[in-house]
Amino acid sequence: MLKVLDSAVPVACWSCAVAHNDVTLFCPHCSKIQPPPGGDYFSVFGLVPQLDLDLGMLEHQFHKLSRKLHPDRFARAQDNEKQWSLADTALLNDAYRTLKDPIRRTEYLLKLHGAEIGEEHAGKGRKDQKDVSRVPADLLEEAFDLNMQLEEMRMAKKMGDTDPELQSSLEQAKKKFDGLLDDVDRDLRTQWKVWDSGSESARQESQKTMVSLLDRRRYINNLVRDVTETVGA
Ligand SMILES: [Zn+2]
Repeated sequence: MLKVLDSAVPVACWSCAVAHNDVTLFCPHCSKIQPPPGGDYFSVFGLVPQLDLDLGMLEHQFHKLSRKLHPDRFARAQDNEKQWSLADTALLNDAYRTLKDPIRRTEYLLKLHGAEIGEEHAGKGRKDQKDVSRVPADLLEEAFDLNMQLEEMRMAKKMGDTDPELQSSLEQAKKKFDGLLDDVDRDLRTQWKVWDSGSESARQESQKTMVSLLDRRRYINNLVRDVTETVGA
């Protein structure tokens, strides 16, 4: 679905017919709005694709482009321009939402580079596709214990019982897994720098590391969510 744009394809502006590359929202020559461009999300903002992104610049470009695309500016424009202002705005919002979030940005850029990320790919290539295949090896035991305790807690709640000891044990576990999430995020940030500045081979190695960090992150996140759902409310 996603594809890296090797080089920007020149297209003729619909209004002034001067050629420009197809990743721009506005014609550099006559400033007229263009149909939604075919580049990646980074190019929407004129940014170089990288993981350690300048968020200030991203936000600045987002607000600038949002203002330029505002429907009020197209009140007397042709119908096609009105439609493009809506379509370009939708694209801009999607792009901004994806790039400003560190995890979404990482997943997006790695997918552009062919990485397979997500629930459906986790544990891929293993014979047993049961849940256990996705558990990070070092968390097997703790995850098992936690799931037992969660089950116990659910039963207790169903019976209308309270179990303060179990409750506090689960809260402790949640704290620990929250800490593990912080570790994953810190490791990801370290890999961003390797990926952004590395050679092709370093980048591939770093990409593999990040894919497994993202799997680990999703797994821990699910555990934390289960604890919150069971303990809270
Ligand atoms: Zn033009």
